[in-house]
Amino acid sequence: MNVVPIFSAPVLTKSVPTSTASAVTSTTCPYCGVGCGVQASVASDGTVTVAGDPAHPSNFGRLCVKGSALGETVGLEGRLLHPMQRTDDGLQRVSWDTALETAAGGLRRIIDTHGPDAVALYVSGQLLTEDYYVANKLMKGYVGSANIDTNSRLCMSSAVAGHKRAFGEDLVPVSYADLEVADLIVLVGSNTAWCHPILFQRIAKMREARPSARLVVIDPRRTATCELADVHLPIKAGTDVWLFNGLLSYLTRSGAVDTAFVDAHTAGWKDALAAADVDGSDPAKIARMCEIDLDVLLDFYRMFADTDRTITAFSQGVNQSSAGTDKVNAIINCHLATGRIGRPGAGPFSITGQPNAMGGREVGGLANMLAAHLDLDKADHRDLVQTFWSSPAMASRPGLKAVDLFHAIEAGTVKAVWIIATNPVVSLPDADQVKRALATCELVIVSDIMAETDTSAFADVLLPALGWGEKDGTVTSSERRVSRQRAFLPAPGEARADWQVLCDVATRMGYDGFDFAGPHEIFDEHVRLTGYRNEVESPQAIRRVLNLNGLSGMGAAQFDALAPVQWPVPTARDAGSADAPPVLADHVFSFPDGRARFVPTPPRAPQHPVDDAYPLTLNTGRVRDQWHTMTRTGKSATLASHIAEAFIDIHPQDALRYGVREGGLARIESRWGAMVARVQHGGGMTRGSVFVPIHWNDQFASDARIGAVVNPVVDPVSGEPEFKHTPVRIEDFPVAWYGFVLSRAAVAPDPAAHWTRIQGKQFTRLELAGRAVLEDPRAWARALFGATDPEADWLDYRDQAGGVYRAAYVVDDRIEACVFLSPRPSLPSRAWLATLFDQDVLADIDRIGLLAGQAMTPGADVGPIVCSCFGVGRTTLRNAIVDGGLTTPAQVTACLKAGGNCGSCVPEIKKLIHETRIEVAA
Ligand code: SF4
Repeated sequence: MNVVPIFSAPVLTKSVPTSTASAVTSTTCPYCGVGCGVQASVASDGTVTVAGDPAHPSNFGRLCVKGSALGETVGLEGRLLHPMQRTDDGLQRVSWDTALETAAGGLRRIIDTHGPDAVALYVSGQLLTEDYYVANKLMKGYVGSANIDTNSRLCMSSAVAGHKRAFGEDLVPVSYADLEVADLIVLVGSNTAWCHPILFQRIAKMREARPSARLVVIDPRRTATCELADVHLPIKAGTDVWLFNGLLSYLTRSGAVDTAFVDAHTAGWKDALAAADVDGSDPAKIARMCEIDLDVLLDFYRMFADTDRTITAFSQGVNQSSAGTDKVNAIINCHLATGRIGRPGAGPFSITGQPNAMGGREVGGLANMLAAHLDLDKADHRDLVQTFWSSPAMASRPGLKAVDLFHAIEAGTVKAVWIIATNPVVSLPDADQVKRALATCELVIVSDIMAETDTSAFADVLLPALGWGEKDGTVTSSERRVSRQRAFLPAPGEARADWQVLCDVATRMGYDGFDFAGPHEIFDEHVRLTGYRNEVESPQAIRRVLNLNGLSGMGAAQFDALAPVQWPVPTARDAGSADAPPVLADHVFSFPDGRARFVPTPPRAPQHPVDDAYPLTLNTGRVRDQWHTMTRTGKSATLASHIAEAFIDIHPQDALRYGVREGGLARIESRWGAMVARVQHGGGMTRGSVFVPIHWNDQFASDARIGAVVNPVVDPVSGEPEFKHTPVRIEDFPVAWYGFVLSRAAVAPDPAAHWTRIQGKQFTRLELAGRAVLEDPRAWARALFGATDPEADWLDYRDQAGGVYRAAYVVDDRIEACVFLSPRPSLPSRAWLATLFDQDVLADIDRIGLLAGQAMTPGADVGPIVCSCFGVGRTTLRNAIVDGGLTTPAQVTACLKAGGNCGSCVPEIKKLIHETRIEVAA
């Protein structure tokens, strides 16, 4: 397919002077599954500068704000630089030899005593394919247990299960270029604007070029993605299957079914339609179930029925559900019924959350999969892999999926776990159960780049890993594109590559087969396995679309030079082409009869409905500028400037009903746990639901780990947890005072009842709230800052009756720290105060402002940051919109630059224009 040239290089890329810049290294962003190409350089002072790679076919030179800020995340603060081992005196530094011997010896002893299923690996979509391949080979082919699961279980295992049920193989039959020729894009459960920003920008550019193309968003929340949508269906959480069953039924009644395709290439049509028709034949009933307007529902159904080039893209809102696999199949059913698959601009499209969730799937990183898209529960598949590996054992049944694995650890049936590149104490549901499990586990090995995480606190052996910029290998994006992650920084301290550590442990456990000279040799073995017995003609063949055999035989230099390439790549000839031919274009699916399967999807409600005790539905997800548990993005001041704290988003009327107020703190509680965060209303919540971001944890806040609240119910097919539907209650978190501190030196949050730590450019910021009244805030502030310099200036303001206190600590005319306290949550602008830390000499007008609690210079307070790239705040934007009569994001960009670099904030700017114009008109 020809790529429509509508997505171009960025308006702005940062660069360093050539005299100080090192050679540019082309690599790949380590965050989301879009898989953007990055060009990285290191200046002589060690500063890392990144820009989008114009040659990379995922992003053509653009990066979102997270990718743009990568240079701020590679510092060594907090890094784990040496192996550590637990002793009676806590974790102590040890040699690699000791740590490896402890890990290998411990695993060996437990296997010998209790059998192979008594040990487990819990790994990550952050791993490179080569790390993943070795981990999977060790567990399944040598230990002989399938107890290896991955945090990808938490984000896309429902998509995997749905693909396998429908196609016979875990196939994503859409490429990004398809989005640019589609006439209708349906985004289901996907805040693409925030979670896959560059993909969203490709959609936005397409719509600028072809305004006739339609965009429908199906999401209980009115997210930033909705700002671009023609139609938003705010369905009740968990009703997706009803919606798509109704669509299948409507397609039949409206004559949109491609009967020739259904007859020739599918099986199971009648059963699937019968299941859909039970409720789906009555659109009014579907509208009631989904709690949406009937006319809007029928508009969507008509649009889908009438548009040949339709892509239904879905993400965590579909997958993270106790009916996630059925949701995926309900979507795929509609594409099979209309024959809209394997054709340009059409198909069901799973957008993966993590940078290498797809690579992990290719090498069998899930507990129920084998490498190379083969199945653990089929004897001929197991034989193929074991023969290829010449391995001494082979797991004969699926292993424990993530949630079950940590229950087995708590129950004592799994006695050793090796956790690599993930933080389950934060990210798993019922996360306090994970704490209990790790606390009782006989041997906990943790490989991580950071010394202190919520999970590393439980490690018996802590192994330092390489981070982004240091490690070397491949990742696969959402569109099946394999790209290189290349090292451009030296390994810090004694940190080692995960594949290398896995191989060392395997060898010490007495296994051969792990003698790899480098990632290129692992990649070679992986791609040869995808091609092994994958020829259609061979009697022993097991046909799989996944075939990378054309990339085999590369030495280290060729591997290093590998350009981004989409699979399948069955022959060397194909390897010369960056884009694979459309998958499933031949309409031959990976079942023995070559036919796709319709899957009946009778709808079912979430296992735990809301009730009087827990009347609200908790939904969780990402925010625009943070990633996972913040071990990397939490270091970036740029990324912290957009959303600095965890929050509970709630409809204003629900807030009123439950006695919580915007800006104040609230506690939400489920049957599994509780957390505390600030209340806000801006997220477009429907009545009866709340939203909390997944990122904050014990390293960044006192009590903001939402995983502790999430119910541990999983999808019965995929094992994916239900992160989008937990019954909760909410109550006010009463405090006597609110406050915050900005300080160049580290400060401790004592005696706060609630705190959040935020990284600023020149300071650390603490948001605080306390229950005990501070009798002497002046003395408290001096002790807090360790202020002993007798020459220092103190600016103090205290309104004792009002309970307000403001202070600044100034040394040699430079502000060192400031603190603001009030009984109410409204406090001075943090964005304005942050600018004072850029000054070497504090201006007199700003000294007055510090005492007054507000900026005294017009325009000095930009307000909460909207555009992180250019530091443009809400107040500045609003003033420009009013004063300049601005009506489009493009005009705002021309005026203030905001939105003109990475573009991640454009939906928020669009929303602000709309809100401001309504205000002005009123
Ligand atoms: Fe990285 Fe952003 Fe691209 Fe995702 S969209 S890969 S986070 S630059």
